[in-house]
Amino acid sequence: MRTRRDGFAIGGAVVAPATRKTLELPVASLYSHAPMTLPVEVICGRHDGPRLFVCAAVHGDEINGVEIIRRLLRLPVLKKLRGTLLAIPIVNVYGFVNRSRYLPDRRDLNRSFPGSGRGSMAARLADLFLHEIVERSDFGIDLHTGAIHRENLPQIRANLDDEETARIANAFHVPVLLNSDLRDGSLREIAAERGIPMLLYEAGEALRFDERAIRAGVRGITAVMRELAMLPPSRRQSRRAEPLVARSTTWARAEHSGILRSTAALGDRVRKGQMIGLIADPFGQQEHAVHAGSHGIIIGRTNLPLVNEGEALFHIARFESTRVAEETVDAFQADELPLGPVLDEEPPIV
Ligand SMILES: [Zn+2]
Repeated sequence: MRTRRDGFAIGGAVVAPATRKTLELPVASLYSHAPMTLPVEVICGRHDGPRLFVCAAVHGDEINGVEIIRRLLRLPVLKKLRGTLLAIPIVNVYGFVNRSRYLPDRRDLNRSFPGSGRGSMAARLADLFLHEIVERSDFGIDLHTGAIHRENLPQIRANLDDEETARIANAFHVPVLLNSDLRDGSLREIAAERGIPMLLYEAGEALRFDERAIRAGVRGITAVMRELAMLPPSRRQSRRAEPLVARSTTWARAEHSGILRSTAALGDRVRKGQMIGLIADPFGQQEHAVHAGSHGIIIGRTNLPLVNEGEALFHIARFESTRVAEETVDAFQADELPLGPVLDEEPPIV
């Protein structure tokens, strides 16, 4: 069914070689009577090659990935595609419409895999995505952002103990790689169980666009596609530093409720015990310092100054050498991130 000669079969349709098609996979009806569908663009290359899915908004309010996929699909180089690209800009279609991480039944889609055709709303959507997308793919990239009011430095989370996964994680070329555990019911766990190497890209903040995170995402995906020989090698010379694997991560939490002034930015290098923020009451009578619990680089941060005792404020990644990590992050942030003639003309989001 899925061999080259026959094109790519999905949702009862077949996408012929050297064509692309936008499909609507039926999910359910809304109570308004309107049908809810899962939109998928399938690009079937002229030549045989790997099948890669790229998806976003599994958490419905994490929208950087939606823009990453829109730009990806405009790249002229896709005319030279080998294999098949499955692009799913909005997986949690319910959450996206509601501008919410969750589904209307309050479930988290990324804790609902493998799902079931007879389960909850989330379980049914997970089941559809698993059978129509994941199980028809050889590799996957899932695009996320931080939560609402929380921003992440561009980073890849993946099972780096798996050789194939580590290879594409390195190819993605963000400064920080996290060898993270698989969470129960996550898309990544179910892909791993089926032997499908998958990356999770985290960058930016929910319900916001971040130009640097978007560009790094588009470039990372095309770099992975080149690594998999789905796209021809780049003629641009890559001068970029090797990404670094974090040894572990810790959170600096609020020990007191109050109003936070952050004194450390995303990507900053911090020393253990260094003050990275101050929490004060509105009168300025009480003031408490927030300290880094370890040496490292700030890879996640709250952007909301109003904090409750116990809340996570700064996410700090520890590295073999913090100095080298800082240089890698600096090199990444200074990078102009060229994307080629078409997307260089794209007006940047500021
Ligand atoms: Zn997410």
